[in-house]
Amino acid sequence: MASLRFLGATGTVTGSKYVLTHKNSNIMVDCGLFQGLKELRLRNWSPLKVNVNDLDAIVLTHAHIDHTGYLPRMIKQGYNKPVFCTEPTRDLLEIMLLDSAHLQEEDAKYANKKGISKHSPAMPLYSTEDAKKAIALLKGIPYDTPFRPTSELIMTFQDAGHILGSAFVIGRWQEESGEERKIVFSGDLGRSKRPILKDPSTVINADYLLVESTYGNRLHEQGDPKEELSRIINDTINRKGVVVIPSFAVGRTQELLYTLRELENAGKIPVLPVYVDSPMAIKATKLYSKHTDIYDKEAKALKEQGIDVLLTRRTEFTESVDASKRINASDQPCIIISASGMMTGGRILHHLMRRLPSPKNTIVFVGYQAEGTRGRALQSGNEKIKIHGEQVRSAAAIETISDFSAHADYNEILNWLGKFEKAPRRTFIVHGEPESSINLKKLIDEKFGWITHIPVYEEVVELN
Ligand SMILES: [Zn+2]
Repeated sequence: MASLRFLGATGTVTGSKYVLTHKNSNIMVDCGLFQGLKELRLRNWSPLKVNVNDLDAIVLTHAHIDHTGYLPRMIKQGYNKPVFCTEPTRDLLEIMLLDSAHLQEEDAKYANKKGISKHSPAMPLYSTEDAKKAIALLKGIPYDTPFRPTSELIMTFQDAGHILGSAFVIGRWQEESGEERKIVFSGDLGRSKRPILKDPSTVINADYLLVESTYGNRLHEQGDPKEELSRIINDTINRKGVVVIPSFAVGRTQELLYTLRELENAGKIPVLPVYVDSPMAIKATKLYSKHTDIYDKEAKALKEQGIDVLLTRRTEFTESVDASKRINASDQPCIIISASGMMTGGRILHHLMRRLPSPKNTIVFVGYQAEGTRGRALQSGNEKIKIHGEQVRSAAAIETISDFSAHADYNEILNWLGKFEKAPRRTFIVHGEPESSINLKKLIDEKFGWITHIPVYEEVVELN
């Protein structure tokens, strides 16, 4: 008999971590960092409820830090066994874990400078060295190819359509009776009919299912995001302004580039300089260009015609700080895509200082803006925001296009679940704020009548 321990993504969308135990095997699926509220972030520092040395392997659904960012902390605690993921996830993590370690080190430095830590000196959660050791443990496995993290378990990655390399993790084992059991971890469930990536793959059965519920109580807007983007760009160009798009470096930036290229080709927007101004986004774009084998049909067909789907006619990747600063000097209409997506740091800040005070310009939000971030403040109509200690006046147009989300909404989740040919023995609803998980549970109960459960932090469930 197997058991499952929930060490994160319970009542929250961050900190994804589950431990599957069968006989002598202990596998951690996802190894995410807690983010957001302080009460959650403190969990990154508290002792883990499993002995790191008892784990045989870690298996990752995808590269996002809320599913992987605790990995270097595991190394710090002595973990040195394999970490399985898809090949694109491995490539993405080579840049993302180093970036995460850098941020941890910067946080500690800042705390020491300001004297705001209880500890003296304040230490980072993990270091660049830890991240490098974590990267050395990554083992890339192709989709749909079974592998054995231990002799007692067989696992497979199936495309989840969420970001480059994202996967459902599927595990199988044999019970004492000889019967086979199957568990499916949804990770983050992507959406159908999105550019570049394939649609989420179909799953038709599972004995045990973990399903995410980020948008368990929301539906994406039905409007056409492409039309909206072209309207916003044309309005701004008519005012001779600049379009600034704060964007997540991995996934969202590439989808934007793809969409801008389409709009340009269709003559819906003029050919403008498009600056990709984020070192991480530039590296991630290179990886999207490398792993064309996992593109969807449309993107693949374009690729075969020799078209780079992630390039507009005048895309410029501004790698160096000097090149980034030169964008500030320009008064010509252009599009600037920069990170971080919620304006909590990164190069986007100097673009805001330069562009926010003029009514000619537009700031376009294409991703979720969490409470407490500059992005949320601007969205809420704040007339000033603080950047680098200075109050910056907001006179630019502020727009939001919500349909660029990479998460399935509740209808899309229900559609995906609707492909199951019979009810799982148990379905666990995870990775959502409480109201989202509760709503999704209600919807699944009503529509399918399955046995569902919303686990709490550190709960252990016997899979019998
Ligand atoms: Zn994700």
